[in-house]
Amino acid sequence: MTIDLRSDTVTRPTPAMLDAMTRAQVGDDVFGEDPTVNELQAFAADMFGMEAALYCSSGTQTNQIAINVHTRPGDEVICSNLSHIYLYEGGGVAQNSGVSMRLLEGNRGRITADHVLANINADDAHYPRTTLVSLENTMNKGGGALYDLNELKAIREVCSAKGLQLHCDGARLFNAVVAQELDPKVFGGIFDTISICLSKGLGAPVGSLLLGSKNFIYHAHRRRKSMGGGMRQAGFIAAAGLYALQHNISRLQDDHRRAQSMGQALKGLDWVKNIMPIDTNIVIAEMADGIPSGSVMAALAKEGIQCFTFGNDKIRLVAHLDINDEHVTAFAERVQNITRSKLEEASKERLPGMY
Ligand SMILES: *Cc1c(COP(=O)(O)O)cnc(C)c1O
Repeated sequence: MTIDLRSDTVTRPTPAMLDAMTRAQVGDDVFGEDPTVNELQAFAADMFGMEAALYCSSGTQTNQIAINVHTRPGDEVICSNLSHIYLYEGGGVAQNSGVSMRLLEGNRGRITADHVLANINADDAHYPRTTLVSLENTMNKGGGALYDLNELKAIREVCSAKGLQLHCDGARLFNAVVAQELDPKVFGGIFDTISICLSKGLGAPVGSLLLGSKNFIYHAHRRRKSMGGGMRQAGFIAAAGLYALQHNISRLQDDHRRAQSMGQALKGLDWVKNIMPIDTNIVIAEMADGIPSGSVMAALAKEGIQCFTFGNDKIRLVAHLDINDEHVTAFAERVQNITRSKLEEASKERLPGMY
């Protein structure tokens, strides 16, 4: 039994989800005629108390479209130095929108209102125009870190006072909804735009949604078309997203519980130095001095456990829909088998690091 903890994107549709997909009513969504896509968009917008939503192929696409519509070339975006839009979107922000980024160092990737305020450029021809703040919640590179709601509200106030737009990369926003027991409308009331992924913890095979005002989504829809993102009978995949929103949100708490158990299993092992606080479904473990994360990844692979490295000194493990309690028990047993001598051996065949 392989235990795949690389990402919450590795899930496969369940029989019930597949059934919803095959039964979907479809039409040409480029003509706006796909009833399932329309239903998904309306359902998600309503859930967040926002005016409109746009179904897109990926979270990278929703983020890139949002940044593009919010900014003009030469503008500056404030975000964390650990953010997905900066690290993992192929430089798309520069390529698609021609904007610069003001990278802030936060606490596990979470930036503060004071920090944002201090980094807004004065209205002076020397400086790029600061137009957008982008926050990631939960924060992937911070180990699924949760933003404090009061901090989000404070950042909202700074943005409103200074005329900045506020975007949320909410690839894992539902993990925050569940962990903090919040109504998604709370987030809908704070951000101008939100990107959510259906293909992460929610278990859909593909798809993300961009949420915002009617006017914003009108422009986002135009931009999606010019980026080649118009899809035809997309209702077949949208049905999976709709199923995910209707059935797979509250179960995220199981992922959070299992992430805690995995963290416990790693505590006290002599090759682990530290475990980041586990807020949601992501476990980031820092390796003991002199133990490269690549050799841990290789040794774990020999035990049938797949994970990714985060730099040379950390590994990331993610709980998701296809990981059950049996996997977690097996994980706890197998990590005990990894000794320093096995790591020594594994370091010779170190796997290429990821992320
Ligand atoms: C996964 C992810 C995205 C989008 O990823 P896609 O693979 O393009 O769907 C965006 N932001 C964060 C934080 C993510 O984890």
